[in-house]
Amino acid sequence: MCLPFNHGAPPPLFAGTPRTTIDSALIRVELENGLVGWGESYAPDPAALVSFFKSRIAPLATGVGATEADAVARMERVLHNMGRSGILLHALSGFDIALHDLRAKIEGVPLHQLLGSAHRTRIPGYASLLQYYGDTELIASNVERALAQGFTAIKLHEKTVDACRAARSAMTVGQELMLDTNCAWSEGQAAVMLPQLAEFNLLWVEEPIWPPEDARTLGRIRAMTRIPIAAGENASSVMELEACVNQGIIDVAQPSAIKSGGVSALMRIAKACEQASAKFSPQSAFFGPGLLATLHVLAVQPREVAVERLFCTLAKTPFSETVPLVDASFTLTDQPGLGADPSPDLLSFLGH
Ligand SMILES: [Mg+2]
Repeated sequence: MCLPFNHGAPPPLFAGTPRTTIDSALIRVELENGLVGWGESYAPDPAALVSFFKSRIAPLATGVGATEADAVARMERVLHNMGRSGILLHALSGFDIALHDLRAKIEGVPLHQLLGSAHRTRIPGYASLLQYYGDTELIASNVERALAQGFTAIKLHEKTVDACRAARSAMTVGQELMLDTNCAWSEGQAAVMLPQLAEFNLLWVEEPIWPPEDARTLGRIRAMTRIPIAAGENASSVMELEACVNQGIIDVAQPSAIKSGGVSALMRIAKACEQASAKFSPQSAFFGPGLLATLHVLAVQPREVAVERLFCTLAKTPFSETVPLVDASFTLTDQPGLGADPSPDLLSFLGH
């Protein structure tokens, strides 16, 4: 699912290459009786993900019952020689989401009813701005655009003090600002930067260091600042992220439905956060069934958590008619499963 996007600036670079589409894989799982469940996997290399699914996941999935609670765990065990993270985990994430969609469809209930009791079905979003590479004019103008659309919380993907200042100067008191550096700094650089960011009253600093799973350094960073530290989307495994929560290494845990292990991983980290008094705020820089799955998980959280919504316009927005963004919020449907299947219109746009 490669969705062309416009974020009000030239294409940002991703690993050095201009990025013009938001990429993920739609996962379709069909039962013998014809019932179809949908999932989504992270797919920076879509061809590799498809190949892995065909060669490794599909043979193991054939004949498995959708309601077998340990279906994904068994696959993990069989496939552990392939590694415990990366493309394997991305594939299993999508499969886990599709199984949850199927389980709720079999029961005839919205997914959140299988996960707990819904505290809400309307989930506010926060605007997650893409990169403007420190261009303060573009940052300010796009923050203003997001606020005009009803968002009251903004996340920047930037690295500089001036970027935060430009955003804050376009905002009013009480509106929330987060900073995601995308693993920009060494420990030494973080030690220089964090004190300079104190004045912006950031809700969190996300992934301040490289490599992202360096928990010991993250722990030292956390001890040197009062700004809450967020991480999780690039944890090598759900267990590693769970340990970071349990050991108080991060303040905000950000598992990704399409990268970290699907609905199961989100629910597991949410529980760990509750027990450790950490904040649960899943990453959701995607637009397909993974986003719907994230919304269902957020529906059953005791505390309201805003869902990450990439601030861009897509050539085709999945679920724009069934679960649209209205006044910066999503409202889940009462339909069984995730609440909406990819529309024929979307599938034909994607060439299916
Ligand atoms: Mg991030």
